[in-house]
Amino acid sequence: SRGSEFVVVANRLPVDRTVGADGVPRWRRSPGGLVSAIAPVMRRRKGTWIGWTGAPDERLEPFGEDGMALHPITQTAREVELYYEGFSNATLWPLYHDVVAPPIYDRSMWDAYVQVNRRFAEAAAEVASEEGLVWVQDYQLQLVPRMLRELRPDLRIGFFLHIPFPPLELFWQLPWRRQILEGLLGADLVGFQLPGAAANFVRLCRRLLETRHVKQDVYWDDRIVRARAFPISVDVGELNDLVGRPDVQERAQEIRTDLGDATVLLGVDRLDYTKGITQRLQAFGELFEDGRLKPGQAVFVQIATPSRERVEQYQLLREEIEQQVGRINGEYGEIGFPVVHYLHSSYDRAELTALYLAADVMVVTPLRDGMNLVAKEYVACRKDLRGALVLSEFTGAAAELKRGAFQVNPYDIDGLKGTLLAALDAEPAEQARRMRTMRRRVIEHDVDRWAQDFLSELERPGVRPVREP
Ligand code: UDP
Repeated sequence: SRGSEFVVVANRLPVDRTVGADGVPRWRRSPGGLVSAIAPVMRRRKGTWIGWTGAPDERLEPFGEDGMALHPITQTAREVELYYEGFSNATLWPLYHDVVAPPIYDRSMWDAYVQVNRRFAEAAAEVASEEGLVWVQDYQLQLVPRMLRELRPDLRIGFFLHIPFPPLELFWQLPWRRQILEGLLGADLVGFQLPGAAANFVRLCRRLLETRHVKQDVYWDDRIVRARAFPISVDVGELNDLVGRPDVQERAQEIRTDLGDATVLLGVDRLDYTKGITQRLQAFGELFEDGRLKPGQAVFVQIATPSRERVEQYQLLREEIEQQVGRINGEYGEIGFPVVHYLHSSYDRAELTALYLAADVMVVTPLRDGMNLVAKEYVACRKDLRGALVLSEFTGAAAELKRGAFQVNPYDIDGLKGTLLAALDAEPAEQARRMRTMRRRVIEHDVDRWAQDFLSELERPGVRPVREP
């Protein structure tokens, strides 16, 4: 049935399966800003979300949930291994994050990526109404715009890349560079987190496909493909509500009490090699070694959420981090005063908010990160204007928060140590001044604004047909 004027295509559906107290399985809306930003638009425009349930081999008919029409896509166990864990997370993920780990180039992974992208494109072609609008999300689905345009030239197609887009010199490694680029060029609007990523894309088009362009409008196939930056953000309203909840405030107090009088540093990351977790722990450990910090004076809480546990590099990283934590606590901890609290599990938004409120210094040190929402969440939660943010220069968030954050180059361990100390020592007045600057930006540019900006650019009339300059 050709019904939906608005179609979102993403690897995962916006719901998770849970089991209720009565033992009956149910769907629950997935946490996170993307889903809460898009859900209202979906309802208003009678939208459909196309995605995978997360269970290999599952075949489900379309269903409705939470006011949204959901269209499940099947992925076999083998496709999950090759398309998702393989090409998406062992090839594209490291390549797009500055090759901080070596990408795997494997032809059977590529074949699976093409096959699964085609399935998503065919579903979107079936579901979208005449001249409808289709918004494709992220690096797992870069071939969908072109495949979809071939099936449905009437559609308006937008694509948003949530992760970085690498410089030409790195992208060039990819054996399928041309196919990926042509895949993206099927869209009318290609959105990136940062202007620099859009510029990388335009330069790549010119060098690889010899396209012409005017500013960031690329002329391709008798169309204009616009490349633009739309920095994604957090759901400020939701976080405000959480901060206002008495149980969340009590939990923050409880965490503080449990940690004693120590200054609390906090890291919240998926356990991923792009996040710079080992660099920050190294720096923190050395501050004790140097005698610049004493046990009981400062404590590091590191949440490392399990992620991509079937990919070998993630297993190796986990071992490395756990050895490092053991070594630091073994060397510098005392009875009753471990210096690092390492938690390898996933927390809900209320618990994370309590942690943000309990933390004196939020430590965000990725080697490369498209945006980093944790940094913006911390800022959004600190209505009290307390706390300090240590933020890597290599995050998208740094472009917006650099004036208020304590910026670091996470590769520079001595610099990182100095910055951690400066953040620990910042007076309340300085904390407030910096926090106010950062809050202004995050409140003004929340995730609703991001979705609105993208969609109004996509719907801007008068961009077709075109003649080359
Ligand atoms: N998050 C969560 N529970 C956890 C750890 C993280 O809900 O235990 C959320 C966190 O609040 C943030 C998101 O996961 O909204 C992580 O986004 P970010 O951009 O920081 O990193 P990504 O994981 O997308 O690379």
